[in-house]
Amino acid sequence: MTRKFNFYAGPAIIPFPVLEQIEKEMKDYKGIGLSLIETSHRSKEYEEVHNAAMTLLKELLKIPNHYQILFLGGGATMQFGMIPLNFLTKEKSCDFTLTGSWAEKAYKDAKKIGKVNVVFDGKSDKYMKLPAAATLKANPDSVYLHMTSNETIGGIEWPDWPDTGKVPIFADMSSDIMSRPLPIEKFGLIYAGAQKNLGPAGVTVVIIRQDLLALCPDTLPAYLNYNTHAKDNSLYNTPPVFSIYALKLVLEWVKNQGGVNAMKALADKRASMLYQVIDESNGYYSCPVDKASRSKMNIVWRLPSEEKETKFVDEAKKLGMLGLKGHKSVGGCRASIYNAMPVEGVMALADFMKDFQKKN
Ligand code: PMP
Repeated sequence: MTRKFNFYAGPAIIPFPVLEQIEKEMKDYKGIGLSLIETSHRSKEYEEVHNAAMTLLKELLKIPNHYQILFLGGGATMQFGMIPLNFLTKEKSCDFTLTGSWAEKAYKDAKKIGKVNVVFDGKSDKYMKLPAAATLKANPDSVYLHMTSNETIGGIEWPDWPDTGKVPIFADMSSDIMSRPLPIEKFGLIYAGAQKNLGPAGVTVVIIRQDLLALCPDTLPAYLNYNTHAKDNSLYNTPPVFSIYALKLVLEWVKNQGGVNAMKALADKRASMLYQVIDESNGYYSCPVDKASRSKMNIVWRLPSEEKETKFVDEAKKLGMLGLKGHKSVGGCRASIYNAMPVEGVMALADFMKDFQKKN
């Protein structure tokens, strides 16, 4: 079997030792004679995995005890709607930073439910530049300020966080959670679909400050109310058991690698290798994103023509590097280099980029 280098944006690369362990345990989980995904979500074996995944998240991200972790379905997309349903009304407002396609989607849903003040709109800069976080001001009457920590399509990432006083930050961290330490106390709610840095698709991690649960209205249908999941330790209904099991293995892998600080060091290293090739290419490759706002997870760049971009992606594929085509809405190329991407994969891509430039 030849494993390829996986640069897909998501579902994305999973650490190879995790895949091996899943394979090993798939037919007989720890001698129970069944796969874990065939057992009840009320079984001792499953509950252990479920709770261990929560404990590891708390440990790795240094999440204080007044926050609760929830495992939900519906992807990050469901959080776009669930957050305003739980925290906004026609009279209540929130603040939004518009930084690209994902923030826009969250904003559109929030506007359907409550009032939304836009505190930053990057549209006139084609979402290629972020302001210094310190310049963001939250409206004191807002229930929260929403930020998308990393725009997976645009390749833009907030390097730090604003001081928003009493207004908590609610952040979509789908594509960069677990890639750097976080000042958790600044956040009221963090959400992330698992399928980039955390494991397979299917589970969405929500980290919520417990006092905020008191604001969620009883009028909501059960599944849509955060309280339902908080009260039942995310076991109100059948959770996505396979995804949570794999999440736990990925978190163990992160811990074995040295935790989030090690993930950050690797992310810095991988990203700078690719940005260096781009910046030293005399304009052959160009990254449209402002240097201070460049993502460490999704590196985007253009070539001199769309024909060359197609040729680049095709040739890379032949060499075993998959998923380098940019998102269809923006074109160009994109390398998604999440936690599980080995430095060798990025080295292979950097070498290929230099070689391609010479020959084309
Ligand atoms: N937010 C961001 C930043 C994303 O990258 C994605 C998915 N690529 C989403 C939200 C939507 O996530 P899901 O597909 O899990 O609903």
